Amino acid sequence: MSHGRRQRPPGGGTGGAMSGGDTIDERWRRVRARCRDTLGNRTFERWIESISLESAGESRVTMAAPTRFLRDWVAPRYGDRLRAFWRAEIPTVQTVDFVVRPALPADAAAAADAGTVSVDGEFDDGLDRVYDFENFVVGKPNEFAHAAARSIAEAEAPPYNPLYIYGDVGLGKTHLLQAIGLRYRALRPDRRVVYLSAEKFMNEFVRALRLEHIMAFKERLRSVDLLMIDDVQFIGGKHATQEEFFHTFNAMVDRGRQVAVAGNSVPADLERLTEPIRSRLNWGLIAQVHETNYELRVGILQDRVERMGAASRVPDKVVEFLARKIATNVRELEGALTTLVARATLTGARIDLEFCQDVLRDILRAHTGDVTVEGIQKRVAEHFGVRVSDMCSARRQKVIVRPRHVAMYLAKELTPRSYPEIGRKFGNRDHTTVMNAVRRIDKERRVDPAFAEEVDMLRRVIAG
Ligand code: ADP
Ligand code: MG
Repeated sequence: MSHGRRQRPPGGGTGGAMSGGDTIDERWRRVRARCRDTLGNRTFERWIESISLESAGESRVTMAAPTRFLRDWVAPRYGDRLRAFWRAEIPTVQTVDFVVRPALPADAAAAADAGTVSVDGEFDDGLDRVYDFENFVVGKPNEFAHAAARSIAEAEAPPYNPLYIYGDVGLGKTHLLQAIGLRYRALRPDRRVVYLSAEKFMNEFVRALRLEHIMAFKERLRSVDLLMIDDVQFIGGKHATQEEFFHTFNAMVDRGRQVAVAGNSVPADLERLTEPIRSRLNWGLIAQVHETNYELRVGILQDRVERMGAASRVPDKVVEFLARKIATNVRELEGALTTLVARATLTGARIDLEFCQDVLRDILRAHTGDVTVEGIQKRVAEHFGVRVSDMCSARRQKVIVRPRHVAMYLAKELTPRSYPEIGRKFGNRDHTTVMNAVRRIDKERRVDPAFAEEVDMLRRVIAG
């Protein structure tokens, strides 16, 4: 084990909280031992063992994960627990945070970090291990889609082809597609799995056309055993792409390869798609993910709380309250929980109903005010000290990109505008840029409570 190697002496050196005679190594060993005890060997070895100690001071402990993936997994799920264990060792500790510190040579680390298995040097599998069946909570609204997804993943030969999953945003379509891919690959490591957003599919296709690799492109796609296409409503437009999509689709089904597709409506309403594709989607099995109900929301929250290691801090009453108040989609539900826990962590507040109402008031108000994308851009630009025109320009400097992402994120959260609509208001950017921004900020909020608080502060100012 490499932990302790990069350790620096605890900051401050004023004694006080650190005066116990124990070395920091011994404390770290005890924190790890307690993690192992409470999480069990398997979870510990899978997630915690490779975490090393970066530095420990009186108020802050920093731990290092060997990959970004590991950090993004561990921080939101076990961060609270690690913090509690550290506080048992050093009571003055306020913050426990994580950095990414590759333990492997740079290339290998980058490969591991990307979390991808290259299928053939061109497509990676596109799978994200966060979205597996194990952390998909099943309830009445999604049980049919879930059962269909599972049967696709587990059957020897395609039981339905294609599987088409549809429903509103934030109800778990991407999660289910990803879970199919992960399970399928776990059961059959020798087969080829590819997950592509419609956008990626189009980009790859156009690129292949330009480079005159189109035959190779087709062959590569058709050699895949399980193909998943997400957000098919965005395939749209370009006739040649649709044509190719359709042929690929048919070729795969004809050869007994499994295809799974997700979109935002029944095939007949996918207006941008050509008629042959719409009807082809009708040939297989169609499964809807419905609006959540109260029981499912409670289930998802409980599962999330558990995985965050925050079960002892979030009372049932609070879970029930959240599940009643936030009746929209799962992403918002998760966002509210993250905000709640982040703010409590930062302020040291107890998570009771009153605190919950306070935090939620800000969130709920945001859904009723007439907030505009332009208003958000202005506020966010002000906050970061950049110009709105820069935010909407093509500039890619970090100082611009970050405010841009935050503004896109808040626009999605606080206004009823769709991804394409928001993209247009940011210098005619593509909807996928907005989707990526939202996802990125979501992730960052989970691992960085200070950043989560900053974003929430902005949200309050804007929604106020
Ligand atoms: P969609 O693709 O339908 O817009 P996602 O699959 O991206 O929605 O889901 C949004 C978020 O909600 C993700 O973080 C996902 O993990 C989570 N989520 C959705 N449904 C469930 C569920 N049934 N159990 C656990 N998490 C869920
Ligand atoms: Mg999705």
